[in-house]
Amino acid sequence: MKINEQCRCGSSLESKYISHLIDFGSSVLVIRNVPALVCSRCGYKLFDDVVAENLEKMEIDFKKRNDLIEVTNYKEVA
Ligand SMILES: [Zn+2]
Repeated sequence: MKINEQCRCGSSLESKYISHLIDFGSSVLVIRNVPALVCSRCGYKLFDDVVAENLEKMEIDFKKRNDLIEVTNYKEVA
């Protein structure tokens, strides 16, 4: 992962593990321990291409299961 990338607000991005929440309206998927670049000033989150791809896969799997809420750990799945 690249460090010290610049956010669009001009502040620098920090490499962190975050909880990523995806709200589908009727259901919610929470993925914990997702590696991301986070802006300390505006809160903007940026994911690595590989991470973004994995999140997308997890999103599709979640929709298939038709669960209302799920809390999952990124490290265990990806
Ligand atoms: Zn920012």
